[in-house]
Amino acid sequence: MRFLKTRLFAALLGPFACLSVGSDPAGAKPKIAPEDALEILMAGNQRFVAGRPMFPDQSPNRRRELAAGQKPFAIVLTCADSRVAPELYFDQGLGNLFVVRNAGNILNDHTIGSIEYAVEHLGSSLILVVGHGKCGAVGAAVAGGHAPGRIPSIVESILPAVKASAGEPGDPVDNAIRANARQVAAALAGCAPILGDAVKLGRLKVVPARYDLVTGRVEILYAQPAAPAAAKAAPAVHGEVVAHAEPAKPAAH
Ligand SMILES: [Zn+2]
Repeated sequence: MRFLKTRLFAALLGPFACLSVGSDPAGAKPKIAPEDALEILMAGNQRFVAGRPMFPDQSPNRRRELAAGQKPFAIVLTCADSRVAPELYFDQGLGNLFVVRNAGNILNDHTIGSIEYAVEHLGSSLILVVGHGKCGAVGAAVAGGHAPGRIPSIVESILPAVKASAGEPGDPVDNAIRANARQVAAALAGCAPILGDAVKLGRLKVVPARYDLVTGRVEILYAQPAAPAAAKAAPAVHGEVVAHAEPAKPAAH
């Protein structure tokens, strides 16, 4: 019954509904600062792009060590697309990434709850929301029309990004992919009490990004929360987390 009420409430609040139980967000500081976590991921992505992956933390010893417990330093929310595998494109191994995937990297109670768990109990300090080029879920939302089964629930979650990016120059699907990653990241960064408070305390950052299917490159779109006064150009591949007043322009690929 309580579950039913929660679902109903979520439906009323829309696709970016943020529901969570009460919790003390002021936990221990993460072992790896958010900026350092991002740097580690981008260094791994550079190795992947260059075709020189190190395949770290995949030994039998690492596997045995982790049986005692996990402390993933980053959370990745990304698409279920078979071509988009975070452990591969960030060149990471076992126990490093807490990965949540669904078609279109969208938010729902399960997605948010999973991410809250990783922040609250596992000490992860960075959430990367990674959309990707040629995303079929976003393409379906842009195309419109009828979808069978439960697919419409995914499409509906992406429609706000389609609307937000409508009229932008360039490819409408790619623009919506970028807008979707930004919107989802913004919603997570403000998601009270667990995620929003962790962001305010500086122990969590939420960063939207786009993965390119051809180059393997992860492009940071901009950091959360957006701070107009501190607006600067974001590094394309690695470096500091920089807030943007305006969404980054699509890069040439
Ligand atoms: Zn996709």
